[in-house]
Amino acid sequence: MLSQVVELIESKRRFCITSHIRPDGDSLGSSLALYWTLKNLDKDVDVIMRDNVPHSYRELPGADEVIKSPKVPDGYDAAFVIECSDIDRPGLIDLDKQFVVNIDHHSTTALFGHINWIDATASAVGEMIYNLCKALGVAVNQQIAECVYTALLTDTGSFHFSNTTERTFKIASELVRRGVKPAQISQALFYSYPFSKIKVLGMVLSSLKRDETGRIALMNVTQDTLAQANASEEDLDGIVNYPLAVEEIEVVGFFKEISPGVYRTSLRSKGNANVARVTEKFGGGGHRNAAGCTIKGNLPEIENQVVEYLQEALGIVPISTISDAL
Ligand code: 5GP
Ligand code: MN
Repeated sequence: MLSQVVELIESKRRFCITSHIRPDGDSLGSSLALYWTLKNLDKDVDVIMRDNVPHSYRELPGADEVIKSPKVPDGYDAAFVIECSDIDRPGLIDLDKQFVVNIDHHSTTALFGHINWIDATASAVGEMIYNLCKALGVAVNQQIAECVYTALLTDTGSFHFSNTTERTFKIASELVRRGVKPAQISQALFYSYPFSKIKVLGMVLSSLKRDETGRIALMNVTQDTLAQANASEEDLDGIVNYPLAVEEIEVVGFFKEISPGVYRTSLRSKGNANVARVTEKFGGGGHRNAAGCTIKGNLPEIENQVVEYLQEALGIVPISTISDAL
């Protein structure tokens, strides 16, 4: 809990911070907000991630300081693990040898830390880091404010999702007071894409189809398509959400071929359908409205299987297989 985290930070000196593979706005924003908080207290601190900082997040204060490494070195007093469902999610060797502090806002997280601070009422872990900052008596400076704002903005889908609360807006308002320029952050996140991202978006959207109920949409991308668009896997981030803009589409499945016969699968829903129940069947995880897993096999068979599970998640009795969109 929070008081244990405060006590640890006050009594120790050398820390590392990590988060999940393929980091997103909350994992990076929260990790870097904690980095600046600890720096303000004159602590020795490293942020270590297995993967690169994605293009959209390169302007976050401290993004250049992130150490890309497959392994955690010895010598830290504690490792903060941000927004992870289990100790393996950061994909870092020797993380389990550290004194681990698990900080997350998902109620489903495993209590894998020596200290576990979980707040399922927080819209993003960024909210929790903001509270930690206050509890430590650290002034919220421009760097911390920009990092926390990015975490809030991305994890709430630009304040669209149901995790957006009065507290989220209160904190966002405080962050703007501390110097955040919302338009500048939105510009960096949503209006600075490489051309390849929009090119591949068009190609992915042309694969769109739906099931016979019209409530489930499917899309896919192959390695060939990525090569044609000169796009990277990073360019695919966020594309899964587009079909939810259609009124009657409640669930989307997006299949990304990462090697022949292997598909990184992203599921999204709006409303009550719990897509994490579906990814769990394939050894993945996530939350009610956003979940992921890796599935091996032949794409049409994978699609049929996933549609069947999604129909179950929507409370629909399966009727037949999918049909192309009209
Ligand atoms: P995405 O579709 O963006 O890869 O993932 C959506 C959500 O599902 C993220 O919050 C992520 O943490 C979770 N997720 C994605 N893939 C996996 C996985 O393989 N295992 C687990 N446990 N969670 C996943
Ligand atoms: Mn989050």
